Amino acid sequence: MKAIVYNFTVPKYVAAKAFGKRLPSLYYGKPSALSFKKVKEPKLPTEDWVKIKPIYSGLCGSDMGAIFYKTSPALTPFNSFPSIMGHEVVGYVTEVGVNVQEVKVGQRVIVDPYINCEVRGVNKPCPACEQGLQSLCRNKSGTKVFGAGMILGFCSELPGTWSEAFVAHKSMLVPIPDAIPDKVAALFEPLSVGLHAVLRQVPKEGENVLIIGGGMIAYTVIAAIRLLGINCTLTHLSLLEYQKKAGIELGVDNGITNTKELKQIMLQLPQTTSHKPLVGEQVYIGGFDAVYDCIGSEASLDQSLSLARERGKVTLVGCAGEIKNLDWTFIWANELSVLGTHAYSKKEVWQGQEISTQKLLVQLLLNNPDYPLEQLVTHEFRLKDYRKAIIANSEREKYESIKILFRI
Ligand SMILES: [Zn+2]
Ligand SMILES: [Zn+2]
Repeated sequence: MKAIVYNFTVPKYVAAKAFGKRLPSLYYGKPSALSFKKVKEPKLPTEDWVKIKPIYSGLCGSDMGAIFYKTSPALTPFNSFPSIMGHEVVGYVTEVGVNVQEVKVGQRVIVDPYINCEVRGVNKPCPACEQGLQSLCRNKSGTKVFGAGMILGFCSELPGTWSEAFVAHKSMLVPIPDAIPDKVAALFEPLSVGLHAVLRQVPKEGENVLIIGGGMIAYTVIAAIRLLGINCTLTHLSLLEYQKKAGIELGVDNGITNTKELKQIMLQLPQTTSHKPLVGEQVYIGGFDAVYDCIGSEASLDQSLSLARERGKVTLVGCAGEIKNLDWTFIWANELSVLGTHAYSKKEVWQGQEISTQKLLVQLLLNNPDYPLEQLVTHEFRLKDYRKAIIANSEREKYESIKILFRI
């Protein structure tokens, strides 16, 4: 079978860091860590596993972070290479181990791609898995069964989903009802990230909420708030007109693309005033009750911290890495609650039920069949055209891209 393989090496990393801006082939061309090639079809590791043929597999911000070497090296001990990339997927089960009762051959499933204690066959789960936080598993640096790897796509012993077949442990599977179309099912992984982030700091009814970002994760946060039916006012700050439009389609109240509009919205918030410091940008008294930063850059973090009201809630959904010049003043001066979020949980709590993020998402999608999520899929490519997919993802303004899927 064929698959997209990522072979991180220090010389490739150093060359791309030094010359990649001028020579993008160092990121995704022949000399890069990426290649599309023949690999061995995986076998079921034990009778608790299934084999899956992907229908669609998504290209994610975290994949782009790895390809463009933007991910912090702090996470390298929890990955192993070469790896077959990809972790966002909907596919058909093609083979089932004898211990698997949960699904049948031919069934359509999505997977929770985190390689946790249960997946590794560890008898006594680590403290993170014990709490239902499988995506924060303490065994990510590797066990006897599989080497280092937090997630499918970045583990050399388990193929990711940018391939014609991959294997998944039965605990990773979530069957998808027929009413959910393939393209929406393909968005389950990022949608779960947004849903988990919202459930970590749930906005209250009537609050003013700001969502920063024009990438997929921002839309998943908007979608989560709307699918949960939380009646709050959503302001979406993005850069480009098509990004604003997509937010409005999903039920944003105010879509804005520049700081002038942002200031106008700020000054309409309850008892909010603007003030000019001796040097630097405008500062505010008052502001948004809650901010979701879905970018994680210096500029977005700066906005998140300065636009939240006193004791406001700031949730970091974007994958912030090393930030050199961040002003922390408002965190203490406004007693902000800044919360990091990552992936999803097996034990979310919503309206009294304890449920995994993905299973709650199935319920929410079945309850809201007309919610316009398919519009978020702006491009489809075949695996062999992965370079075109990467370019369409990185040149947002030209391609007006949001979510790019590989059709396999
Ligand atoms: Zn992802
Ligand atoms: Zn664990």
